[in-house]
Amino acid sequence: MKDISLAEEIDAILPQTQCRQCGFSGCRPYAEAIAEERAQINQCPPGGEDGIHQLARLLGVEPLPLNTAHGVFKPKEVALIDEQACIGCTLCIQVCPVDAIVGAARQMHTVISGECTGCSLCLEPCPVDCIQMVLPKERSSSAEIGVHVAWTEPDHQDYAVEKVEKKKAADRARARYQLRLQRLEREKQGREERLAKRTEATVTMARLSSAASLKKVTIQAALERARGAKAQASPGISKKEDWSDRTSDISSR
Ligand code: SF4
Ligand code: SF4
Ligand code: SF4
Repeated sequence: MKDISLAEEIDAILPQTQCRQCGFSGCRPYAEAIAEERAQINQCPPGGEDGIHQLARLLGVEPLPLNTAHGVFKPKEVALIDEQACIGCTLCIQVCPVDAIVGAARQMHTVISGECTGCSLCLEPCPVDCIQMVLPKERSSSAEIGVHVAWTEPDHQDYAVEKVEKKKAADRARARYQLRLQRLEREKQGREERLAKRTEATVTMARLSSAASLKKVTIQAALERARGAKAQASPGISKKEDWSDRTSDISSR
């Protein structure tokens, strides 16, 4: 049984990068695993030591050092697509957990840097390796055209400001992640409904076709029976042969 409220409190601490480094499919599943004591509190590299301490305080346990088997803490980066090299295959869009990539099939793709969580999940599927992770300030101006850049590098001198910024970014990422999950669920339901309709249509066609075949076979059998009955009632060729036999008998007398 899931402890929803505790999972929510834990999820509120997690950075919402949705990178899966913790070994779960997103921050929320990891939060649920911690709440159910199926996972340790030190498996989230983007949350770093600060995140571990916040989790430890919430759960009333001792903090643990970050388990580096899951990765190491590093400054937040954002994805940058080399738009000249992009072939528009859409593979990156399909894996982005917060829908931060825009583009259409066979058209150039670009990252909405303000929405990018820095999860790096788009790097692996790109067939032409035209995505790289960069510090936000390294982004080229051409990639920023028409794009609202919400993410600002936190001021490390002011922990409170940094925390507020991180919280805002995490809340936004969580909302976009949830919207994406809802969209995927709607698309899945749509696919299932279309498949069910197609299956129903195929079954109906098969039934109609089998009924038509049965009708054809029945008519064919009836016709054959009718022909057989007619042949028995008027055996034409036998009669003719019989008549010619009789004629030859008479002439021979
Ligand atoms: S940020 Fe990544 S590692 Fe941390 S909880 Fe979320 S998905 Fe897991
Ligand atoms: S653009 Fe790439 S790095 Fe950024 S959130 Fe999407 S998948 Fe992650
Ligand atoms: S995966 Fe790479 S090539 Fe394909 S659309 Fe994304 S950036 Fe372009």
